[in-house]
Amino acid sequence: MKITPILCRAGTMDNYSYLITDEQSGISAIIDPSESAPIIETCRQQNIQPEYILNTHHHFDHTDSNLELKSLFHARIVGHAADAARIPGIDIGIKEGETFNLGETPAQIISTNGHTIGHILWYFAKDKALFTGDVLFNLCIGGIFEGTIEQMWASLQKIKALPDNVMFYPGHEYTLYGARDALRISNNAPEVIKYLELAQNNLKKGLPAGPYCLKDEKQCNPYLSAQSLVELEQRLGY
Ligand code: ZN
Ligand code: FE
Repeated sequence: MKITPILCRAGTMDNYSYLITDEQSGISAIIDPSESAPIIETCRQQNIQPEYILNTHHHFDHTDSNLELKSLFHARIVGHAADAARIPGIDIGIKEGETFNLGETPAQIISTNGHTIGHILWYFAKDKALFTGDVLFNLCIGGIFEGTIEQMWASLQKIKALPDNVMFYPGHEYTLYGARDALRISNNAPEVIKYLELAQNNLKKGLPAGPYCLKDEKQCNPYLSAQSLVELEQRLGY
């Protein structure tokens, strides 16, 4: 599977949408269309007409271009069945435990309440790629807006249970923001400093900070590495 990150809402919300293509079939999808212009430009460069739009959750900065791109590309929109009322233009509702096939590439749906109720991760196990929306960012996690901290904790444990060599693709570029807490909480641990150096090198070149593998994230992200709900609460300042 080919994965192209697309920076959207640059300088304000710094969202990442992603263009993903199953190379065997040529079938493509957009993950979380945040802003239409940069996505249309990327599709044009790659001469691709995406057949699907895959959403992680209902927030406007992840679904704002759903309807425009649906009509432009004649794409079908896939999101959590339980959140169908809040996902603009949804055509296919999907739940945890179900598989979505992007051509020959299967994705598992992982339910991750906390940031919102109805948030899902898209996990392409065969390709070792995980799209984490607003649950997991580099060195930080999403705000707990609709769910409880217990739900966020449970969601993070699902991510922790996935293999170390899975690469993850977050919904925002928040690495430098997350770095402040990661450095403070870890007392400037060498692995966090190393993580940050790589991120800064990439960002300076105008690239996304990552992708990073879950092994690095389990080690360096102070919220994913919390050993208990109480420790997570302490680290989040509850
Ligand atoms: Zn969100
Ligand atoms: Fe967001």
